[in-house]
Amino acid sequence: MASTLLALEADALVEWVTTHGGQAFHAKIIRSNVLERGVLDYDQMTSLPADLRAALVAELPILASAETTRTVSRDKTVKVLLQFPDRGGSVEMVHIPPPDKADTRGATLCVSTQVGCPVGCPFCASGIGGLERNLEAHEILEQFLIGRQVGPLRRAVVMGMGEPLLNMEALNTALAAVHDEMGLGARKITVSTVGFPDRLHKAARQKPRFELAISLHTADDPQRDNLVPAMKGVAIEDILAAGDDWFEQTGREITYEIALLGGENDTPWHAQRLAERLAGRRCMVNLIPWNPSPGMNFRRPEPGTPEAFRDDLIARGLVATVRWSRGLDDDAACGQLRQRVKQG
Ligand code: SAH
Ligand code: SF4
Repeated sequence: MASTLLALEADALVEWVTTHGGQAFHAKIIRSNVLERGVLDYDQMTSLPADLRAALVAELPILASAETTRTVSRDKTVKVLLQFPDRGGSVEMVHIPPPDKADTRGATLCVSTQVGCPVGCPFCASGIGGLERNLEAHEILEQFLIGRQVGPLRRAVVMGMGEPLLNMEALNTALAAVHDEMGLGARKITVSTVGFPDRLHKAARQKPRFELAISLHTADDPQRDNLVPAMKGVAIEDILAAGDDWFEQTGREITYEIALLGGENDTPWHAQRLAERLAGRRCMVNLIPWNPSPGMNFRRPEPGTPEAFRDDLIARGLVATVRWSRGLDDDAACGQLRQRVKQG
């Protein structure tokens, strides 16, 4: 299988360059052009010798992915479907500009970590068909590079397709480059996970370069078993304990996410139960009203319900916000664009 520039580790790139007529320091120049300056075309790297440039163009593509579909919604949210011709599969990447046009701080980028997802949450299009494969570190990294080409980035969220904790090694490698070479700070990256406790305890001890969001969805154990099938039997208490451990280890507050499903987990009883279980913790709660996906047996919450749920949490001492999804006119929820392209 042909390699790509980003798939080569530092030593391997030096070797490639020196066996193609360049010198070791050219490897650094190439990498800094791509990662620090965002140059994705060797012909623009004019400080490289012409022969080396020609070899790079002919033999070592920078990116492994090819863009197959791009949609731009009315609010300028850009969704890109990336295909990986060599290793197979496709994932989504979403570039979300700030809601206020006068805000020039750049967009939020949403990236994927797996092709498909093995967790199988019944309300999420990414889980349809299960897991195809984990993404490699460079396949995660290049989404950041492509995203930055769409427009400047303020922050990134690992909330696209896949469960990040099940592909942590590749994600950590990618985020190291994003942090050290692309210059996006740890506070500006949020990883969202369903929160496998053992993996969270481990990740908390690996000097994480990101903020953490845990998709809790409900404070009721039997209901969570249904909403997050791959975690059936894992007690919510153990997830919260892992979250507490994360806070102790890193000193950073966690966000708990609830995908609000009309009539399922958005009732006053659910708000009360959630407030009771999160009481005394320094954390945030993000309420995400469900985005309808074809063929799924859920409804959006009734108008006003998300806000009432939020106010209930706030009245009980929590910090809570409602996050309305952007780009709603086309396949807003994660995994929907891929499904539509597959079907159509
Ligand atoms: N697998 C990880 C990250 C990807 S999903 C996780 O589950 O956390 C990112 C967030 O989007 C999760 O909180 C998930 O529950 C939510 N989500 C998925 N599909 C959704 C939909 N159709 N509407 C609203 N939120 C959705
Ligand atoms: Fe996977 Fe997250 Fe979707 Fe659940 S919500 S199926 S864990 S991507």
